[in-house]
Amino acid sequence: MAYVAVLPGKQPELAETAERRWAALAAVRPDLAPAVTLQRQLLGLLIELGAAIEAGRLPKLSLPPRYIAAKLARGVPSFTNEPIPLPVPVLKPALLSLCDALAAGGAADAALHIREAIVNGSIEAGSLLAASLKRDQAAIRIGATQRGLAPDLVWLVAELAVSPFVHVLQRRLFWHIDNEALEAALAAWARGYCPACGSWPAVAEVVDGHRTLRCSFCSSAWELPSYGCIYCDEQGAAFVTAAPNEERKDRRVEACGTCGGYLKTIDLAELSPFPLLAISDIETTDLDVAAMEHGYGRPPLKEFGC
Ligand SMILES: [Zn+2]
Ligand SMILES: [Zn+2]
Repeated sequence: MAYVAVLPGKQPELAETAERRWAALAAVRPDLAPAVTLQRQLLGLLIELGAAIEAGRLPKLSLPPRYIAAKLARGVPSFTNEPIPLPVPVLKPALLSLCDALAAGGAADAALHIREAIVNGSIEAGSLLAASLKRDQAAIRIGATQRGLAPDLVWLVAELAVSPFVHVLQRRLFWHIDNEALEAALAAWARGYCPACGSWPAVAEVVDGHRTLRCSFCSSAWELPSYGCIYCDEQGAAFVTAAPNEERKDRRVEACGTCGGYLKTIDLAELSPFPLLAISDIETTDLDVAAMEHGYGRPPLKEFGC
């Protein structure tokens, strides 16, 4: 089956696993200490927010399984162009806390200005969160620039705040499906982007030889039937997998000479539950550097029709 269900972590094990992985990372990469301190805080907030969302009432989605199956068959992710009501009263305070953490973690004034804009209503929290869920980078970028705010930081804050919600949504949609058409459509999903939200993977986590793509936004997990470039499906000589560090063959970069894209892959004992995928991403920042030094990049978000 292409879609892989990753069991959600439970407190306190989730926090303990996170701490263990952070400590291991800090030990081998002391230079990453400031980044680790910040990410630890952000992750703590996301774990709390995730628990609040799991405990609350989710919106009823009018997404019939057959309808989603037909979308997936056309290569359109499930949530694309769907009006999905967001729990703004739960997510808005999280936006502010995330700004505080980012301000303390080095983004200082830039993060505080965003916080201020949300508090005084210059940025309407509901619209910002909705634009993030829709993956509407242009709208967020324009809105931020018009208000003199750092666009990348506004995008990040909104993405982090929405991520626990969209993670739960994709689980509710794809787990325990009692519908053959949707099950078949998910099993046949052979795209490099996420079948739920359409984002590209942050990394591929490899467990027991299974290369599982992990969505950078909703943390969904899926396997592809073939081994090639996740962006353009190149499977020939132009697609190479290499370990930049000879002694760490468990951490590799897949690079494509045809489209210029790259993907990080790491071997792990188990797939990371939400939101610990962020740790896999931070653990492999040296692979991003190596790939970019060789001229590879990550493509922008894919755009979809209806
Ligand atoms: Zn996703
Ligand atoms: Zn490619």
